[in-house]
Amino acid sequence: LGFSAVTLRRISRLNAEAEEAHVRIVQSEKMASLGRMVAGAAHELNNPLTAVIGYCPVLTMSLTDDKTRQIVDTINKAAQRMAVIIRDLLTFSRTPVLEIRPVRVKEFITESLKAASESAVAAEVTVSVDAAPDLVALMDRPHMEQVLVNLFTNAAQAIKDSGRGDRISVKAYERDDAFFLEVSDNGPGIPGEIKDKIFEPFFTTKRPGRGTGLGLSICYAIVEAHNGSLRVNSTEGAGTAFVIELPRTPSTGERAA
Ligand code: ADP
Repeated sequence: LGFSAVTLRRISRLNAEAEEAHVRIVQSEKMASLGRMVAGAAHELNNPLTAVIGYCPVLTMSLTDDKTRQIVDTINKAAQRMAVIIRDLLTFSRTPVLEIRPVRVKEFITESLKAASESAVAAEVTVSVDAAPDLVALMDRPHMEQVLVNLFTNAAQAIKDSGRGDRISVKAYERDDAFFLEVSDNGPGIPGEIKDKIFEPFFTTKRPGRGTGLGLSICYAIVEAHNGSLRVNSTEGAGTAFVIELPRTPSTGERAA
């Protein structure tokens, strides 16, 4: 038809791009309907589970036999565990709605780590926090707390389960137009062959009953909703660092929550 080689190459590139865009749209529609299905099922399971969790203590009170009390206690613990899985499924299936506000970072880190202190004590790790006292960042505080607690708990569990490492450090700083929050550990590291999979929903190396494999995919979705990014640097046998990058902090003097 008389098209030049350059034009033909452009047409073929545009074709490939259009095909990729189509695949992305189909994929995101699939994810959206999967999300709706998961959310619906999680809701349905939540109601009967509330009855189990609510009545277990009542039943325990009316029991005198220790063996039966133990059985009810086991049922209660299993039900609590299911409640956590359902909460994770609901978080995972919804796009987080954020309320972005300026937050004083050092105080945010210290407060968030209180929620994760049990895992740090269990793993016998030394925790260090490095953030300038006046550092302020824009974020949805409750959602970012969920991210920080998750990354921290993962690090503590990795150290405890492997028996390798004894330090977790949380560091926050600004560089150029971005705010960075890092959670690093000197634990076992992540084997190269699974590094690509850890952000996938339901991927876990933890034993059944310990991990749902939803933690990092939820963290990823929350950070992405902030227009930020979550990356991992890990060396097997040496440790792991998760790096959150968020868009610019507000100008100094803005009121922080
Ligand atoms: P879960 O904690 O339920 O396993 P996550 O999505 O939070 O799910 O984590 C997925 C996997 O990533 C973990 O099972 C573990 O293999 C790996 N991982 C995450 N954080 C670390 C870490 N700090 N050190 C080593 N491995 C890690």
